[in-house]
Amino acid sequence: IWKECLSIIKENVPYITYNTWFLPIKPHELENNTLKIFVPNNFFIEWIEEHYNTLINKTVNQVLGPEGKLVYIVYEENDPFEELKQPTSEKKPESAAVVEEKKSEFESFLNPRYTFENFIKGEGNQLARAAALAVADNPGQTSFNPLFIYGGVGLGKTHLMHAIGNKILEKDSNKKVIYLSSDAFTVEFVEAIQSDRVNEFSAFYKSMDTLIIDDIQFLVGKEKTLDLFFQIFNTLHQSGKQIVLSSDKPPKELKGLNERLISRFSWGLTADIQPPDFETRVAILKNKSESFGLELSNDIYEYIAHNITSNIRELEGCLIKLLATSSLNSKEIDFNLVKKIVKEVSTNKQVSISIDYITKVVCDYFKVDENKVREKNRKKEIVLARQIAMYLSKVLTKSSLKTIGLHFGGRDHSTVIHAYNTMELLIEKDGNVKEIIESLKNKIEMSAA
Ligand code: ADP
Ligand code: MG
Repeated sequence: IWKECLSIIKENVPYITYNTWFLPIKPHELENNTLKIFVPNNFFIEWIEEHYNTLINKTVNQVLGPEGKLVYIVYEENDPFEELKQPTSEKKPESAAVVEEKKSEFESFLNPRYTFENFIKGEGNQLARAAALAVADNPGQTSFNPLFIYGGVGLGKTHLMHAIGNKILEKDSNKKVIYLSSDAFTVEFVEAIQSDRVNEFSAFYKSMDTLIIDDIQFLVGKEKTLDLFFQIFNTLHQSGKQIVLSSDKPPKELKGLNERLISRFSWGLTADIQPPDFETRVAILKNKSESFGLELSNDIYEYIAHNITSNIRELEGCLIKLLATSSLNSKEIDFNLVKKIVKEVSTNKQVSISIDYITKVVCDYFKVDENKVREKNRKKEIVLARQIAMYLSKVLTKSSLKTIGLHFGGRDHSTVIHAYNTMELLIEKDGNVKEIIESLKNKIEMSAA
């Protein structure tokens, strides 16, 4: 019976298609009007149904009569594409899978936590966000194809890409949207080569409505993967399917990517994401802690936002650590804990406090002229301000005594040591001084950015 079907199919499809897709199918059994056939894997079923559904139906009806039905059984246990799809099949005891339902869904690998709703808008991400929204509303229909998002680590590229995919599916759950990292793409490609399934691999991706590939800088140097990616890209682009890509650098700077690809990328829109400004950082912190069920004072948000400046993942990491530490030790989240954790998390702490800034804060407090503090003025209140500024410079920066001395009129390191010792003594003896120093220290740490 299946042979009969095959001969009809053979006449209706190109030889290569017949060879690739229909020959590997083996008949299993015929029950009433239902013909069960073995197929190599789920991907086969999907592909055949997508491309040859009418032909198959016609053939089956012709051979088996109008009641004729076809049931697919996957005969291979390790289907490399299995992971990519939600099981549409039930496992049978002998571990063969019977596909009863026609509609085959597949896994998009989209993280539902990343949406536009919880993506905070800021100056640094304005363009990328706007473009992403436009693409999500009209995939493949805007001139932003491909949409190429680039920017440093932890600035929201991955978040935006998932948001695009989620929104497209929200509007139309039948759309085939897939997100994957370029690493995953490479690994699957290598597996496809090893199991001689490159055509299926390529056909699978070419059948997407929206293809989202993250961190394509990791494709650089992988010539074979890039070649195939190029083909997939062209097919999708030509048929008006949306492509979204990200990288840590703009296309031009992806050394080792060939010109063909770079020029393709510039067909669409290249949008960068810049580090968030202070207000955006505070807004992100508030938003994140809300989602953790955590409520902190504005001072704390601002302190964190002042000290962690370049990376949103670190802002988030700081909150998580705060939450973990405070709940582990059932401790209130107080300012000391915040300070400690920010110090642990932040990577750019040392550069954020400068001697000049310390000098400014101290002089503001004592209402003295900064220049006089830097010169060799011996007026009493100037000397005090200078000594405090030197002391705080020693405590709050990693600068050497020599460097600190240079900032204060080229005094040598022994002067700085003297100032430091004098202040230590004063702080110990005089509660007032201690308080002033503490509050200056806090102020400097709080606003150092
Ligand atoms: P990238 O892919 O650029 O390295 P991610 O998208 O992984 O960065 O972002 C790191 C973290 O910061 C994620 O948890 C993400 O949700 C969060 N994040 C980044 N940008 C924003 C933003 N504008 N609003 C809210 N959260 C953000
Ligand atoms: Mg990322």
